[in-house]
Amino acid sequence: MTTRSETKTTLAHLLTEIERRNPAQPEFHQAVHEVLETLAPVVAARPEYAEPGLIERLCEPERQVIFRVPWQDDQGRVQVNRGFRVEFNSALGPYKGGLRFHPSVNLGVVKFLGFEQIFKNALTGLGIGGGKGGSDFDPHGRSDAEVMRFCQSFMTELYRHIGEHTDVPAGDIGVGGREIGYLFGQYRRITNRWEAGVLTGKGPGWGGSLIRPEATGYGNVLFAAAMLRERGEDLEGRTAVVSGSGNVAVHTIEKLTALGANAVTCSDSSGYVVDEKGIDLDLLRQIKEVERGRVDAYAERRGASARFVPGGRVWEVPADLALPSATQNELNEQDAAALVRNGVKAVSEGANMPTTPAAVHLFQQAGVAFGPGKAANAGGVAVSALEMAQNHARTSWPAARVEEELTRIMNDIHTTCHETAERYGAPGDYVTGANIAGFERVADAMLAQGVI
Ligand code: GLU
Repeated sequence: MTTRSETKTTLAHLLTEIERRNPAQPEFHQAVHEVLETLAPVVAARPEYAEPGLIERLCEPERQVIFRVPWQDDQGRVQVNRGFRVEFNSALGPYKGGLRFHPSVNLGVVKFLGFEQIFKNALTGLGIGGGKGGSDFDPHGRSDAEVMRFCQSFMTELYRHIGEHTDVPAGDIGVGGREIGYLFGQYRRITNRWEAGVLTGKGPGWGGSLIRPEATGYGNVLFAAAMLRERGEDLEGRTAVVSGSGNVAVHTIEKLTALGANAVTCSDSSGYVVDEKGIDLDLLRQIKEVERGRVDAYAERRGASARFVPGGRVWEVPADLALPSATQNELNEQDAAALVRNGVKAVSEGANMPTTPAAVHLFQQAGVAFGPGKAANAGGVAVSALEMAQNHARTSWPAARVEEELTRIMNDIHTTCHETAERYGAPGDYVTGANIAGFERVADAMLAQGVI
């Protein structure tokens, strides 16, 4: 029987070795570190998890594909981007996870996202493995025709690696309904198959699930509400700060408003908007989704209640709740200190790994309820799995049924994380609860399926 401190030392050595073998991938190191650092209690308590090679296998992707994506811009110039798909773990089902198109994408970023996705997908309780992909292509400022040509070239390589029973991509930053449409069209053309379940996030008229666009944001608010409920509180009348202005942020604001909270901010890389009357979603959507513009236009058109703060960070705005919904490491220790000073009660991650480790620590020290992304934002991928189920059955469910399932799944994830944390001596620590519960499910499946 190994003790908890011996296990900690073994896990620390493992981490050093993983860092050595995967140089220059700081986001991947951060994601692995965050998980391994919480596993000691479960690995010490259950000897089968200390089996040599189990955790090493979990941290090594099953397959990594990197490919050239050449395409022609509107001036006829050839552009060359890099495409990625990391198929991380398929013990629980086909690889599942989004595609991110953003200039910051590199192998380390895709691996961090794929690693997170394994545990997140396990927490949904559904049959989906973990994967992630994307490209350093920047869709901003590109015409629809350029985006289409890029997506077609990307899929011309990717189609060999995916399939409804193999690997099922979806959207992430920079990949929404438009991109999924072009990707699906090219897949269908190359393979001559109507294989709806190969991608999720499709349009509702051609195999998409209702509530899929809303699911990540709605799910995160439901998770935040469950954390508050656990403390005998609710969302009614609370002020919330939300970062980002993409799909996750917009639907987070929508659900917060529906449940009686006041969401007062949104942001993009140019700065943030604070609107004391609450963000007007029709205006924000018009600017971001129709005009594909920046958030400063919101403040200009909204009138006296709103102002734009160039280069600022939403975390300086006093609030009861914070829902980071933009990108990784967007909320650091100073931001966390400002939120705590202003009396924040709960922080729930709509984006993947938006809170730095030092900031997470600070929230936990201050007794703030902290919902890690792999639990709190699992609603998106959960409804993707429901989309796959509908595709397989060649049916489509009404919105109310999908939303009911989403609510049940988010409440179940909350309960699982809460109970697991308690069982392993870390009451109220959703980070430990999520990591251990996700790990147990994947590790059990890997052990049962042998050394592969
Ligand atoms: N990109 C989303 C996530 O981070 C959704 C993935 C999916 O639907 O497959 O979970």
